[in-house]
Amino acid sequence: ISMNDPIEERRICVCVRKRPLNKQELHKKECDVITVPSKCVLLVHEPKLKVDLTKYLETQAFRFDFSFDETASNEVVYRFTARPLVQTIFEGGKATCFAYGQTGSGKTHVTEIVALKSARDVFLLQSQPRYRNQDLEVYVTFFEIYNGKVFDLLNKKAKLRVLEDGKQQVQVVGLQERQVSCADDVIRMIEMGSACRTSGQTFANSSSSRSHACFQIILRRRGKLHGKFSLVDLAGNERGADTSSADRQTRMEGAEINKSLLALKECIRALGQNKSHTPFRESKLTQVLRDSFIGANSRTCMIAMISPGMSSCEYTLNTLRYLSKEEEE
Ligand code: ADP
Ligand code: MG
Repeated sequence: ISMNDPIEERRICVCVRKRPLNKQELHKKECDVITVPSKCVLLVHEPKLKVDLTKYLETQAFRFDFSFDETASNEVVYRFTARPLVQTIFEGGKATCFAYGQTGSGKTHVTEIVALKSARDVFLLQSQPRYRNQDLEVYVTFFEIYNGKVFDLLNKKAKLRVLEDGKQQVQVVGLQERQVSCADDVIRMIEMGSACRTSGQTFANSSSSRSHACFQIILRRRGKLHGKFSLVDLAGNERGADTSSADRQTRMEGAEINKSLLALKECIRALGQNKSHTPFRESKLTQVLRDSFIGANSRTCMIAMISPGMSSCEYTLNTLRYLSKEEEE
């Protein structure tokens, strides 16, 4: 980070990233239904049938702060999304970056990359003249929210309680904060937490798509909170539709995911419109991240991840409708 980089002024930035077709999709000769004609626009070309059974493509346009096509590098995605946020925490900011989308769209992929690049930048910034003598210590936390309950991924998946004090401060009681002194320390913590996230579970992949994972980098000065960056790998948004499943557990999980993603949308909307009321108590996810939605010094970036294939079209449209600024015809 160069000190001359402007700190992004906007409080909320909503982006979309299209991943390339994967091996299976290529093998099945799936069509790519997404194009990105300009920096902010993304088009979905949905194959449809007329009444006389002739085929046609219905094109829908969605507008974002940034839209990234499959050629965008991880570095570029990071530079336009999380990097401006990382710098704000040195100025006492609370910043949050979310990865939203269907399972398999690339949420965990982008989250891991953003975590590593943010860690690298945090230590780079910490060593710069402007911040070097500020006695800032760096800590990380890593937890999972599954079915409305919080589990500490850096402490054997201990179940944690969330409390709100009289001053409306939200606290995750007992959440382990591990001090780190270099980017490699951070990588070790991420590996440790990720192993905890999926190990010991019979349905490793399905369980991770049903939980939100939150990784935080926290700056403290003599113990006192200075700034905080939270990175959230959200549950697969298609899971919110499991409310009609035959299995009771699946149904309950689906309802919980649905509730939390809706609450998140409302909180982000309130932030974007500078509304005085933010409904963060509607779900554990938004409650735990309350800091990110409230206060003059909070910033949020949402990255919507989408799969390009025709078979994902319906979920892709759901994702785009959830987040886009306006729909154009
Ligand atoms: P999710 O967490 O949304 O379920 P993953 O991050 O696990 O999805 O991604 C699914 C697969 O697609 C992984 O194998 C991942 O490496 C690959 N992938 C995701 N995004 C990209 C990308 N931009 N470029 C190349 N491969 C990607
Ligand atoms: Mg994932």
